[in-house]
Amino acid sequence: MEAERQAVVVGAGPAGLSCAWRLMQAGIDVEVLEAQATAGGNVQTMEVDGFRLEGGPHTFMPSADAIVEVAREAGLADKMTASLPAAKKRFIVRQGRMRVVFGGPLSFLASRLLSFRGKLRLLQEPFRTRQRGDPTDTAERFFVRRFGPEAARVLAGAFISGVYAGDISRLSAPAAFPLFWRFEQEHGSMIRGAMKHRRQRRAELAAAGRKPLPVKGLLSFSGGLGTLTATLAAKLGPRLHLDTPVRGLARQAGGWRVEHAGGSLDCRALVLAVPPGPAASLLEPLDAEAAGAVTAVPMAPVAVVHLGFERRCAEIPDGFGFLAPRGQGVRSLGVLFPSRLFADRTPPGGELLTAFIGGVHDAGALALDDGPLADIALADLRTLTGLGREPALVQVRRYPEAIPQLVCGHLERMELLRQRLHDLPGLLLAGNYLQGVGLKDAVASGVAAAREVAVYLQQRGGGEGERDHGDC
Ligand SMILES: Cc1cc2nc3c(=O)[nH]c(=O)nc-3n(C[C@H](O)[C@H](O)[C@H](O)COP(=O)(O)OP(=O)(O)OC[C@H]3O[C@@H](n4cnc5c(N)ncnc54)[C@H](O)[C@@H]3O)c2cc1C
Repeated sequence: MEAERQAVVVGAGPAGLSCAWRLMQAGIDVEVLEAQATAGGNVQTMEVDGFRLEGGPHTFMPSADAIVEVAREAGLADKMTASLPAAKKRFIVRQGRMRVVFGGPLSFLASRLLSFRGKLRLLQEPFRTRQRGDPTDTAERFFVRRFGPEAARVLAGAFISGVYAGDISRLSAPAAFPLFWRFEQEHGSMIRGAMKHRRQRRAELAAAGRKPLPVKGLLSFSGGLGTLTATLAAKLGPRLHLDTPVRGLARQAGGWRVEHAGGSLDCRALVLAVPPGPAASLLEPLDAEAAGAVTAVPMAPVAVVHLGFERRCAEIPDGFGFLAPRGQGVRSLGVLFPSRLFADRTPPGGELLTAFIGGVHDAGALALDDGPLADIALADLRTLTGLGREPALVQVRRYPEAIPQLVCGHLERMELLRQRLHDLPGLLLAGNYLQGVGLKDAVASGVAAAREVAVYLQQRGGGEGERDHGDC
């Protein structure tokens, strides 16, 4: 039997890696057990025939404080790269055509994304301050109340395709859109709330002696998002065990026993940074109610289809890509234009387009072979841009359980989970199904779990060899 560790982290996705990195930085003796042969979870940057392909997420926002902090600590400050200025333009599909998303008052007036009536209704949003929601509101009810039915269908529908691959009538407004929800609760309006929030954030950063990152667009790293996860994995060194799926957990005096493919590890604190399915299986023998709360988080399936071209496609406009609300004449949830976002994604002069297909409304798409999936993406691109060329490279990756769906009842279930975890001292959860589905939420949850582990170990203190842990 190996010596007891202070902490074990299960799962080396962005949440688990950030957690373990922070624990290591605080001088806590930590081991990370990862089921797959590579670290990074859904963040997988691959090099294929000179194309740099992102398996899952492509970007994060400059306001993603947890990612920016972890990246800086890991020595990656000068590796963060902003998207190219041309990528500022975004498109939404409306009635089978790509329409530019407005960025200011003039482009709003000129935009053909919404009808005149739809625009008028949208403009009333800041003045509808008496309408406050009910915590049981679906995203659909919330966005229709705020923006009117047309903008809800088109703008929120596009956002939901892009972020959740989900169903607007099932997502919970306060769980899936907590910031927007708060804006309405506190300011009676999303637009007013967003403006105040921006001012407040600037003031808070100034008070903390920090400046917002001088970046207009979205962020990645040179070499892709995998640079972050690979760097954290390398820094963890021998503490990270790949190809080591965890099969069971048992409570024992003073901590936990973790059963894994190669044996077992004893530890005082344990962080489960795995998706809801594996988390529920591991929790089930310990607390059926906690496992039930986690099992109730449905997952949307997504296939990612990369299309690489040897030459630039003149038919593709400069921009970030398009998102497609359901019912607008295309099957893809959206297509990114990665070679217009970052300069390092193709061989010289090439083009890379990445389609997302599936989601809760089209789960069957994942059963299709690579060829038919590529055909769906190419047909959508042909309809929208006139692109007629065949790609030199087709690469498909399927995620049967891609994006957690924070559906109605999620907040109540997470509260129940939090209460049940009181009876499992030293066991913490991290991951993007708890409080937000994005990369920034996953990293923030890992950082928060590390902080809780440090406090827990400190409170238990007094043990032989116990050190005074630095801040996590
Ligand atoms: C197709 C796609 C596109 C996305 N696009 C974006 C985007 O553009 N922007 C954005 O912000 N977010 C995006 N996301 C979401 C982002 O990828 C997630 O928020 C993030 O990866 C979640 O990190 P995590 O560590 O919680 O989970 P994961 O990344 O799922 O990592 C969990 C890890 O746990 C491991 N594991 C599971 N079971 C066990 C076990 N029993 N024992 C040991 N290890 C185990 C897994 O192998 C995995 O490595 C996207 C996701 C997908 C799938």
